[in-house]
Amino acid sequence: MSTPRPMGLPARPGPEEDFDTDDSVGPTGRPKRFIPPPPRLTGHGPAKVLAMCNQKGGVGKTTSTINLGAALTEYGRKVLLVDFDPQGALSVGLGVAPHQLDCTIYNLIMERGTSMSEVIMKTSLDGMDLLPSNIDLSAAEIQLVTEVGREQTLARTLQPTVDAYDFILIDCQPSLGLLTVNALACSDGVIIPLQCEFFSLRGVALLIDTIEKVRERLNPKLEITGILATMYDPRTLHTREVMARVVEAFGDVVFDTVINRTVRFPETTVAGEPITQWAPRSAGSQAYRALAREVISR
Ligand code: ADP
Ligand code: MG
Repeated sequence: MSTPRPMGLPARPGPEEDFDTDDSVGPTGRPKRFIPPPPRLTGHGPAKVLAMCNQKGGVGKTTSTINLGAALTEYGRKVLLVDFDPQGALSVGLGVAPHQLDCTIYNLIMERGTSMSEVIMKTSLDGMDLLPSNIDLSAAEIQLVTEVGREQTLARTLQPTVDAYDFILIDCQPSLGLLTVNALACSDGVIIPLQCEFFSLRGVALLIDTIEKVRERLNPKLEITGILATMYDPRTLHTREVMARVVEAFGDVVFDTVINRTVRFPETTVAGEPITQWAPRSAGSQAYRALAREVISR
């Protein structure tokens, strides 16, 4: 990618200790399951489409989209990341300046003449591509209302690319509006990042209700792939209590992997690259690799 690195780049970290030791009980309170490295692929596609979804902002959707995508490429998977938030944070996190783009996912879904090759961008990782977005996409939410088949617009757009990738990850905006419904309507599964803090469970019932409605009315194959606990702080009783409640409420849907709170993630945004590149040996990198193995095995 040709975009210059932003100013004030933090110093690249050295190797860190992985504090995810081999305790037999994981942060979920369940025995840790061993998930072997996934089998090598001999070809690519059709992709499993996963929506990263939670109508609450700041829970780790975008961070998880970038880093899960990056970790999946380390296992030889071809990945397309779809920025489906008009804020364009996913694009920024990959070093793209979204406001400078003439062609984004907005043009792709709203204009018949725009082709995928005009919009799709390579990232700094081999095997990971990006459909960027910017503020233009906010207009689509309104314009789509009068479209025929408005909920399936993104599905129609992504359809021709499905065979070229193993995973398509859609970074949703923090709302349950028409854009998010479009993401759910074309997904095989939903990953719900959930911040380990007291009010995080508020709103999850509404999200699950929306997922069920989309499954009944638009997309019978849609399932909840997993709930991902983010910003976990093993030192506080509070996060451990929240975690216990999440596991109590959702059981095995909760991934064994949790993402600890660490300053490495805000750093990666400034650096414009995934944590697996920025700090490959950090605990955060290891966690997203473990998540990738879980996602492949589900
Ligand atoms: P969302 O897409 O749900 O709004 P983001 O992924 O953008 O959430 O994360 C919100 C903010 O929190 C960002 O500044 C990001 O760098 C930071 N962040 C995300 N995950 C973590 C984490 N595990 N530890 C610390 N900060 C995090
Ligand atoms: Mg986001």
